[in-house]
Amino acid sequence: MEKFDVVIIGSGPGGYVAAIRAGQLGLKTAIIEKDKELGGTCLNIGCIPSKALLTSSDHFSFAKKEAAKHGIVIENPRVDLPTMQKRKDKVVKTLTGGVRQLMKTNKVMVLEGMGAITAPGKVSVKSSAGETQEIETKNIVIATGSVAIELPFAKFDGKTIVSSTEALCFEEAPGKFLVIGAGAIGLELGSVWNRLGSEVTMLEFLPRIALGFDLELSNLLQRALTAQGIKFHLETKVTGVKIENGRAIASADKANEKLTFEADKVLVSVGRKPFSEGLGAEKVGVEFDERKRIKVDKHFRTNVEGIYAIGDVIAGPMLAHKAEDEGIACVEIIAGKSGHVNYGAIPSIIYTNPELAGVGITEDQAKEKAMNVRIGKFPFRANGRALANEDAEGVVKFIADAKTDKILGAHILQHAASELIAEPTSVIEFGGSSEDLGRTTHSHPTLSEAVKEAAMAVEKRALHIVNR
Ligand code: FAD
Repeated sequence: MEKFDVVIIGSGPGGYVAAIRAGQLGLKTAIIEKDKELGGTCLNIGCIPSKALLTSSDHFSFAKKEAAKHGIVIENPRVDLPTMQKRKDKVVKTLTGGVRQLMKTNKVMVLEGMGAITAPGKVSVKSSAGETQEIETKNIVIATGSVAIELPFAKFDGKTIVSSTEALCFEEAPGKFLVIGAGAIGLELGSVWNRLGSEVTMLEFLPRIALGFDLELSNLLQRALTAQGIKFHLETKVTGVKIENGRAIASADKANEKLTFEADKVLVSVGRKPFSEGLGAEKVGVEFDERKRIKVDKHFRTNVEGIYAIGDVIAGPMLAHKAEDEGIACVEIIAGKSGHVNYGAIPSIIYTNPELAGVGITEDQAKEKAMNVRIGKFPFRANGRALANEDAEGVVKFIADAKTDKILGAHILQHAASELIAEPTSVIEFGGSSEDLGRTTHSHPTLSEAVKEAAMAVEKRALHIVNR
């Protein structure tokens, strides 16, 4: 029986990054993946294909609505969806192939099949051909990720009632597209199909969209998306979805009103749940919490010696970069080093246009906790580069400790917010203050100057707005 130092189950961003780090540290490593391609949800059916379609559809939207403002004449731009989808698939293939290559260069053995823990230190791998192989290992890292949550009254049929996986692969834009759940995935895919010609309606149980993000900026995002043609129904509880002649009819309660929505496709994007089916973790005594997440301590150790868990299958935000950093830290701990993840400095992003990005606490959380904070804000309409780009929608907001000036949170609404959030994230990681950021020289003219000005606004010394 082959013996390893580390066996990683699942090859998503948590698992494959852990495998690279283990290889770098000289640990004899294997990674097990049940699906055909490596890369997990993120590369195959999540972050990457969704961003590929968001970019393509954003270009189309630019051609249709924005190009003329720049003096560029594009007559009747139209979408060639098969080409758009092929490009997306090619991007996915390049990246999943790249992960396979990285496993080779880091001397990680790839085992294809369903991994199951049969005892501490023992893992079986059942291939799709039905062959089973047993391996021994000093350490096991569970990185089995998550799957979409299904609604009991709107089960996925893959055709009319779909999850994000199918909504990334439509062969034509649905005429009417109903999205249940206005979180990151729903807002992104709603945006894609709205831009590509669908009539998009979003139903959300809560009184707001984008839960977890700064409320003021979420409301601004909702306003921007409404202007783009997406219809929102908040505080709307979907109670049933039935299929009639291949079309969906959803019923919902809003205040005391009963509403009905007809659609060609319904995306259920009400969240994701940890996945550990067939893993055998319970059988060897691994403890789970009330939400079926594997319980770990701050060193990613489960209650069973030699078994660790990372990524979407444990608590915390279900994000690829969170899974990656946990993978690195976990393997460094296994190798006797001191790995750690700073959960106060994990950015979250919704890749709509404008993008919404946030890191650390929000203004509403600070209020709820009655924290003594100062707020600094700067709108992109006062930023030269944003105006030159004809892309001046949005704002930067900082939340800083009123006494120490330490940055506690940063929130950005802007077309390029996903890139801009990296700077405040670094400053938070280093425990920096708004003054540190505000006194750092930023190139001119750049969008990042708005980040600097918002930091300066904490001390009411922003230059290109009236400080209040
Ligand atoms: P996963 O990526 O889910 O990988 C787990 C892997 O384990 C899978 O390949 C699975 O097949 C395998 N596996 C499970 N059980 C077994 C077993 N017993 N044996 C062998 N293999 C097994 N996050 C972001 O940060 N940014 C984004 O922009 C973003 N966009 C998203 C868009 C969509 C549409 C979706 C669905 C998700 C998105 N996410 C995004 C979330 C992100 O994809 C996840 O947080 C991330 O993939 C979690 O990584 P992971 O390694 O924990 O698990």
